[in-house]
Amino acid sequence: MKFMNEYRDAAAAGKYAQALRRITTRAWTLMEICGGQTHAIVKFGLDEFLPEQITLVHGPGCPVCVTPIELIEKALATAAVPGVVFCSFGDMLRVPGQSGDLLSVKAGGADIRIVYSPLDALKIAREHPDRQVVFFAVGFETTAPMTALAVHQAAREGIRNFSLLVAHVLVPPAMEAILSAPENRVQAFLAAGHVCTVMGYHEYEPIARKYRVPIVITGFEPLDILQGITMAVRQLEEGRAEVENQYSRAVRREGNAPAQKLIREIFQVVPRKWRGVGEIAQSGLGLRDPYKDYDAELRFGIVQQSLEESPDCISGLILQGVKKPFECPAFTGACTPEHPLGATMVSSEGACAAYYRYRRVGI
Ligand code: SF4
Repeated sequence: MKFMNEYRDAAAAGKYAQALRRITTRAWTLMEICGGQTHAIVKFGLDEFLPEQITLVHGPGCPVCVTPIELIEKALATAAVPGVVFCSFGDMLRVPGQSGDLLSVKAGGADIRIVYSPLDALKIAREHPDRQVVFFAVGFETTAPMTALAVHQAAREGIRNFSLLVAHVLVPPAMEAILSAPENRVQAFLAAGHVCTVMGYHEYEPIARKYRVPIVITGFEPLDILQGITMAVRQLEEGRAEVENQYSRAVRREGNAPAQKLIREIFQVVPRKWRGVGEIAQSGLGLRDPYKDYDAELRFGIVQQSLEESPDCISGLILQGVKKPFECPAFTGACTPEHPLGATMVSSEGACAAYYRYRRVGI
């Protein structure tokens, strides 16, 4: 397949592995931010290609995984309101809250629909003016422009039966939180290429300087990731801490200016709790005052107290790169994709799901 097979070439992968062996002189720990990269690494066994001094740890870049349990509970309560059509990406339906998941609320009779875009939810609102349609707005900077576009469009058309349960999060504050943590062991990042197609990578430059950490904007195919690792290790070995762009076929430094403008018009930066991690300052997006009418939390007045995670789930440590899924006592026993205890076992981008799918034998 064009633009895929050439990035999965085994001979080229072997050359990167050789280059890495040549340049690596000591132990380094790298974090890939994005859950899509984690799945590629585990699926293709890329970590097994690397010199043994290089350790890859998995980051918080799975939006389903980091949506806080309180927002899941708010989603369950909102979806159960009579007359509401609750629209969500499919991955969110099985994420456990404290009282259940969206799938169980749906089984109880709620009108919960899987959509592929917030614009699908807006279309439902347009077609059913007698119903309240709520979109569960989950995701990083990658999906935020589409959510912003849906709100912009709803306001332009005067559609009032549409609202958002907003859970959008931002990558750079999470990177800073990881680097600031006392238990941090991350020495370089592979940043998520798709986030940078929207936001560019100028935001990462102060982080690289402040924490003396190389950041390589990296794609998602095996050769992208191996090249990203090679670039990061070369920087570490040479004592450099810069932002480099491996994913130059898709990413420019300044990113997508119209998409950023749309995000800024609709959203403001707010504090956000990350599941398993806790609150990170200035790490989320919330609706600006002129668009507060579209805030489902205000519209339905659903209040949620702070909740505790399952004590058996260590997904917070996994999302911060401190532990690996197989170090969780519940992995493959009490916690499986059929009966997940934590979101990282549910999501198609979750690290626990990746290890369950590709690494159960021999770990
Ligand atoms: S295996 Fe299950 S319980 Fe353990 S960290 Fe992953 S999601 Fe949580």
